[in-house]
Amino acid sequence: MQLVVQKYGGSSVATLEKMNKVANAVIKRKKEGFNVVVVVSAMGKTTNNLIEMAKSISKEPCKRELDMLMATGEQVSSSLLSIIFQEKGYDSISLTGFQAGIKTEGVHTKNKISEIDTDKIKRYLEEDKIVVVAGFQGINTEGDITTLGRGGSDTTAVALAAKLKCECEIYTDVDGIYSVDPRLFSNAKRLDYISYEEMMEMSCLGAKVMEARSVELAYKYNVPIYVASSHQKGKGTYIKELDKEMEHKVITGLTVSDNVLMETINQVPYSSEYISDIFSRLAKEEVNIDMISQTSSGDGYVNISFTTSKEDEGTVDAVMKEYIKNTPGINVKKDTDITKISVVGMGMRNESGVASKIFKLFSDNSINFKQVTTSEISISYIINASDKEKAVNVLCEAFNL
Ligand code: ASP
Ligand code: MG
Repeated sequence: MQLVVQKYGGSSVATLEKMNKVANAVIKRKKEGFNVVVVVSAMGKTTNNLIEMAKSISKEPCKRELDMLMATGEQVSSSLLSIIFQEKGYDSISLTGFQAGIKTEGVHTKNKISEIDTDKIKRYLEEDKIVVVAGFQGINTEGDITTLGRGGSDTTAVALAAKLKCECEIYTDVDGIYSVDPRLFSNAKRLDYISYEEMMEMSCLGAKVMEARSVELAYKYNVPIYVASSHQKGKGTYIKELDKEMEHKVITGLTVSDNVLMETINQVPYSSEYISDIFSRLAKEEVNIDMISQTSSGDGYVNISFTTSKEDEGTVDAVMKEYIKNTPGINVKKDTDITKISVVGMGMRNESGVASKIFKLFSDNSINFKQVTTSEISISYIINASDKEKAVNVLCEAFNL
């Protein structure tokens, strides 16, 4: 019998009515001759609500307890869905991450899957049961319940598909992967295919449809992913290895992230000691630096700018305050009214001139940028938030996105 892993996100299981629709879709698949492992997220905004509750008690709730708390969300949705299957006359069983054999390692609230023992799942599938697995969770070597980081149900689904050697379908509230978020550009096109590398890059750069880590896992184990809408019929998007079938465009997609904080440190004495001091202080506090740029050292001083995510603002403030204390004459400027706009495409590997084309487009449209970085398949610009709409339109039109 063929096997498929289907994952339904929080919006797809937000109400019992929606869960009922999910159940019908799974049953349809079952009737087509498939065994189905269903991975679910928590209902609607459940996870956020649980975190808020904990934060109303404590500013920094203990992460082990947060894991215990958050994992309940997926237990609720998986058991309710299983009851719906049973009510419809189908044999079904719900499993927590632990029961599904998902072992994890790392720190609480950010665990990684280290191993999956699928014996139990396989046994239930042989008994012709629909297996419903609570996404986003596992168990560590201490026997404690863990979670995989926000959006982690995607990772549960992909990891199970990798281990069970089958396709993975992700059902969500959008009908696939778009060249750009349709809320930002109404003419955005739904892509039939996108390569793992491009999807990984887009997820890391701000596209919210797929959790970046799950795509990385799919790439590593070559698990094809199909992303589609759970409530709308029609085609979705395949995330898979790049092949001849795919349309070869220079730029496949554009992403935008408003979650950017830029710090500029002026008048830093030009010595590697001073400069490395800044970044080692930040690294010690686990601040994840994204872009870095430095001006030339004409007068023995340089200006350094770096970007990070807004969540780290408090930590960065504290680190900078300490740094200034030790290095007189320095001043620090913070910028939060900025946007990072990135273009992604495998075609950039062989095609030159993309960056210069964008520089020209920006200058023709009086869009100033504050930072630029490139990777093999992407280019990112930091611009003023007020230029976001204009920049998105200009780029989407120029690259036919
Ligand atoms: N419920 C978890 C979250 O909201 C995991 C997931 O939805 O994938 O982050
Ligand atoms: Mg999600």
